[in-house]
Amino acid sequence: MHIVVVDGSRTGLMILHRMIEHRGDLVTYFIDGQEALDFIRANEDVELVITSFELASLSGSQLCWEVRVIADGGRPIYVIAMSANTDLEHVVGILDAGADDFMMKPPRADELNARLRVAERTLTMQRHLIAMATVDDLSKILNRRAFFEKVEQVRSGLQPDGALSMILFDVDHFKRINDVYGHAAGDEVIAHIGKLRMPPDAIFGRIGGEEFAVAIPDVPLDGAMSVAEYLREQIEGIAIEFGDQEIAFTASFGVSDLAAGEAIGDMARRADTALYHAKNSGRNRVSSFSPLSVG
Ligand code: GH3
Ligand code: MG
Ligand code: MG
Repeated sequence: MHIVVVDGSRTGLMILHRMIEHRGDLVTYFIDGQEALDFIRANEDVELVITSFELASLSGSQLCWEVRVIADGGRPIYVIAMSANTDLEHVVGILDAGADDFMMKPPRADELNARLRVAERTLTMQRHLIAMATVDDLSKILNRRAFFEKVEQVRSGLQPDGALSMILFDVDHFKRINDVYGHAAGDEVIAHIGKLRMPPDAIFGRIGGEEFAVAIPDVPLDGAMSVAEYLREQIEGIAIEFGDQEIAFTASFGVSDLAAGEAIGDMARRADTALYHAKNSGRNRVSSFSPLSVG
């Protein structure tokens, strides 16, 4: 686990270091609250923050609050706050500022380590719940809701003139695979699609039964067409061993890109229209629909 420890004094940091070094975690130490916050924002692997409440430049309560905002955005971070002031009102204030736990300062080694174990249990559960809520069980890629949430998130971080494109694809005659080989074979097909090779930064989700979506930031329509063609070829090359049989299958693709000022849903609808076009013109092919043309 990557832990950030913040204390206003070097001696305080040294004491904490001695108490937790035996655990073997990656630990980054800060005297300054603002520097700690910048580091936590930039390093997604930080999961636990141990902070003194009395800090310079950024107060302990501001740090707790800002970390809570990051955690509420879907990245679990557990905060243990410490203070020499154990007045009940003060402790209540610390917890209300967003700390998950409170410890008296200076801490005792056994207490700190017990509280770290509590933090680990909580983080493990949170990670598990997030995975259950966002990852599709069969394909092991994002589910529909998580896919569109992630696309919205990426879109909000795009440059004003930044490109975003979307590929929708649907397995051809999937019902036939179920009918001929059985439902378990259909499930195998879906699991294999989850393992397709994707360009870096691509967001990949299962948005329906045998329907999938890929969003690619900073790639305009023609680039997304090439990616779709690459995916189509990968799928065409899959041969699933099923009992003593080999199952091959194809998929049809619709591609669109985001026009200035429009919603993600508009881009998805155009990709869906293009997908419909690909199905109707013979399947196992890629069609696109930009605001100007269908082809
Ligand atoms: P098309 O080429 O037009 O897309 O035809 P299709 O047969 O692929 O499409 P259709 O919509 O007729 O059938 C989709 C089938 O997918 C129906 C449904 O039972 C099956 N399906 C949906 N989800 C799952 C799943 O998780 N596992 C399996 N095995 N089948 C599923
Ligand atoms: Mg289908
Ligand atoms: Mg379908």
